Amino acid sequence: MMSVAYDYGHERQAPAAQAPALKDELLLIDGARVRSLSGRTFKSLNPATEQVIATIAEGDEADVDRAVAAARRAFEGPWRTMRAAERGHILLKWAELLKQHTDEIAALESLDAGKPIAAVLRQDFPAAIDTLTYYAGWADKISGDVVSARDDALTYTVREPVGVVAAIVPWNFPLMIGMWKLAPALACGCTIVMKPAELTSLSALRIAELALEAGLPNGVLNIVTGPGRTVGEALVNHPDVDKVTFTGSPGVGRGIMKGAAGNFKRVSLELGGKSANVIFDDANLEAAAKAAAAGIFFNAGQVCSAGSRVLVQERAYDEVVERLVARAEALRIGDPADRATALGPVISEKQMRSILDYVEIGKQEGAQLATGGTRVGDRGYFISPTVFANVAHEMRISQEEIFGPVVSVIKFKDEADALRLANGTAYSLAAGVWSADIGRVQRFARKARAGTVWINTYGYTDVRLPWGGERDSGLGREHGTAALDNFTEPKAVWMNLNV
Ligand code: NAD
Repeated sequence: MMSVAYDYGHERQAPAAQAPALKDELLLIDGARVRSLSGRTFKSLNPATEQVIATIAEGDEADVDRAVAAARRAFEGPWRTMRAAERGHILLKWAELLKQHTDEIAALESLDAGKPIAAVLRQDFPAAIDTLTYYAGWADKISGDVVSARDDALTYTVREPVGVVAAIVPWNFPLMIGMWKLAPALACGCTIVMKPAELTSLSALRIAELALEAGLPNGVLNIVTGPGRTVGEALVNHPDVDKVTFTGSPGVGRGIMKGAAGNFKRVSLELGGKSANVIFDDANLEAAAKAAAAGIFFNAGQVCSAGSRVLVQERAYDEVVERLVARAEALRIGDPADRATALGPVISEKQMRSILDYVEIGKQEGAQLATGGTRVGDRGYFISPTVFANVAHEMRISQEEIFGPVVSVIKFKDEADALRLANGTAYSLAAGVWSADIGRVQRFARKARAGTVWINTYGYTDVRLPWGGERDSGLGREHGTAALDNFTEPKAVWMNLNV
């Protein structure tokens, strides 16, 4: 069994996942489930079986217009003017309702995204709830300062919500990453139009229904499903959207920055990674190899902070490769609905082909395929956990984000070498370091170009700590108080005391 990257503090014993009854899914605009104006739909597949599990309304620019107008009305109307404490109460009520529907929502997420149900119940779902309750608590604690600038004036600041937010999310953690955006934006008093990834729209629609049941006023949270090129771009270009919060690939992120320039929308971007997990020869190699395997095989490697490069000091190299191979081969691959499954399918046929292409590239580049590298079965998008040994830093499999269960194991000589390799990609999201030498791990933590550094552990996130990266890993931070800054604008107020 893999360990997971998130520890919520309790294990939920849930029954085997029940596939929810599936219906045609509609957009959610202004508190109502509606067809798209064009009447078009698209299909969502279960990646474990390739069967159609839902027909979903396909939105376009006209639907985005309606949703943005509803969000603007709700912003100017009930949401912004509501007492902050009341906003917090509604968010807490929403969290309670989500918890009451744990098994249904977890099963939906597992079915739609191909995630092992055990992982959804242990990580994705509790992390989403934790995020929501954390920011519900912030709703009535967002404050400005009285600044003693001058004797003849009272000068102070207030923090105001930025307005209408477009939230564009990827398919790898639809529920959890969706909540990373919804919870702080709503707590700050913003209203939202959310576009889920077209491969995984279902959990967003269901949790938004529960938000209405919790008392969220109509129009505060709108969901427009459909492709990035139409719905996503319409949101990014829309003159009445004030802020875009995006998680996804660097290529799309770059386009979003350009598109947002039209009306100078605020932009935050959480993008890709090629994170290094660095193992020195004095580390606890068993613990390091265990975490390195979890760091790349969790969620079938479809994790922005996946430790897709394991850098190992020469003397420990063979042992770590051996341990990684053993762990890869012991992973239980199979039906995501089975609670014993550790590794589910990847999200789509396109993603599977792309990963298998990278395996070929790795072989052609001269890396040694130590295990895996093949499709498993001929139904569903399963890939065997893959370990490449003798990988050179310059190879494409060491530089490019594969976003699958494929790890490159790279040899290094000393601390300087490790740091050079760890920092030697276009990304800077996360890094791990394993050593018994406290000076060395601290030196590494200082010099690593990464938004998060894990020392003698790997992969944890917590909503109380900032999350994000620079360069091809993004712009700005989510989580903690950083997210409150993302969704508020400071205003300075001067009052003349001498009139
Ligand atoms: P993607 O960029 O293809 O899509 C992300 C979202 O953007 C989807 O909803 C998609 O429909 C939409 N989109 C696509 N084209 C668009 C356009 N032109 N305009 C506006 N929106 C558009 O990414 P993906 O394949 O869904 O996700 C994988 C990527 O996300 C990886 O690079 C991964 O590292 C990254 N990611 C980063 C983090 C993080 O926290 N840094 C977390 C998870 C995933």
